[in-house]
Amino acid sequence: MHFTQHEAHAEKDVPIMVRGRGVHLWDAQGKRYIDGLAGLFTSQLGHGRHELAETAATQMSQLEFMPLWSYAHPPAIELAQRLASDAPGDLNRVFFTNSGSESVETAWKLAKQYYKLTGKPSKHKVISRATAYHGTTQGALSITGIADLKQNFEPLVPSTFHVSNANAYRAPELTAGALEVTDRESLERFGRWAADQIALTIEAQGPETVAAVFLEPVQNAGGCFPPPPGYFERVRDICDEYDVLLVSDEVICAFGRLGHMFGAEHFDYQPDIITTAKGITSGYAPLGAVIASDKLMEPFLKPGEMFGHGYTFGGHPVSTAVALKNLQLFDEEKILEHVRSNAGSFRGTLEKLLNLPIVGDVRGEGFFYGIELVKDKVTRESFNAEESNRILYKFISKKLFEEGLYCRADDRGDPVIQLSPPLIAGQSDFEGIEQILRGVLTEAWTLI
Ligand code: PLP
Repeated sequence: MHFTQHEAHAEKDVPIMVRGRGVHLWDAQGKRYIDGLAGLFTSQLGHGRHELAETAATQMSQLEFMPLWSYAHPPAIELAQRLASDAPGDLNRVFFTNSGSESVETAWKLAKQYYKLTGKPSKHKVISRATAYHGTTQGALSITGIADLKQNFEPLVPSTFHVSNANAYRAPELTAGALEVTDRESLERFGRWAADQIALTIEAQGPETVAAVFLEPVQNAGGCFPPPPGYFERVRDICDEYDVLLVSDEVICAFGRLGHMFGAEHFDYQPDIITTAKGITSGYAPLGAVIASDKLMEPFLKPGEMFGHGYTFGGHPVSTAVALKNLQLFDEEKILEHVRSNAGSFRGTLEKLLNLPIVGDVRGEGFFYGIELVKDKVTRESFNAEESNRILYKFISKKLFEEGLYCRADDRGDPVIQLSPPLIAGQSDFEGIEQILRGVLTEAWTLI
């Protein structure tokens, strides 16, 4: 199994999920759960959408497979057109993959080849953030910052460098231990500081060696960190100043998660490349897409050149047909508008949990939130390793599921519960989530 300690299932079987409908999942015993994680930040339209199943069946009967190696097929063409028209600025070139990791690999290779083609072959290094997750293949894992995930596979691909997370809840760098970064001015100062870590790393490595910066609009791993105000504006300036590509890794944040088609739109910055996967099909088929700027792709289109990269199944006809239908349903059902108009009530409902002593911070955007747990709200003291194991993993994580909430309780530095429900969720679902969290977290406090 993926990322699973098999020992943990020695006493209790792995839950077997058999059915989904809307925002709910059912296990093999017929028990119902709220899907508080959209599968894995993926099921944007929710479960059991027969329109998507029918689209897949129709495409399978029509043309089940054709690679995109010097040939094309209608769903890939139409989906590429749709993504190019939705993506910000001149991001008009689309390359299909099968997953987020492949999209990240592709973006790095694209950046490296771009600089070779434009006479700067020494530009190959990548900068990303300390606990960011960018995938598991060896290139993507090298860009990933989480040391625990990497150590068994070292040496990985050299030339990746990690800068500080932009975590405003824990910003001791700026506040000399006072920890409070709440007013707008302090947040902006923190945003500048965090962005400037990228500039310092580019300087330290030598700008002539750095190809790209990979950042998520809201960083997932580490605990759901929205960018401080001004952060991306400053990062864009830095990338321009040093001729470094800005890659917006939107494997989670694209396709409505933040209320816009792309996270870069939500925070109003212009990347050179966007990497996507997950929600592009709402999980009904595997697919990823890398969307790059006209400027970046220009040298690849010259006579005799090509992007020397590809996947047999990248842009599979069934997956691209499903993705097109998925985005058509987004339009018909006004999914982006729904997220934008309900994001405030999702936030408000989760913020009610701040009256519990164990809840230190509730943060996020759109339908993507993290709830950070603490031992002490005033000092923001976190769990130690023993407490994380005993309280977070052995109690909270299990109990939430037993109580009927499928979500994620994880510790990658600090204990955080992550929520990203399907984009069709509404107030009664938010309240259901809040009630289960309240009950479990109240009980968890007695274990500290
Ligand atoms: N990039 C980000 C930001 C992700 O969140 C993920 C997966 O969660 C990936 C890349 C890797 O995607 P996949 O699991 O589809 O390979």
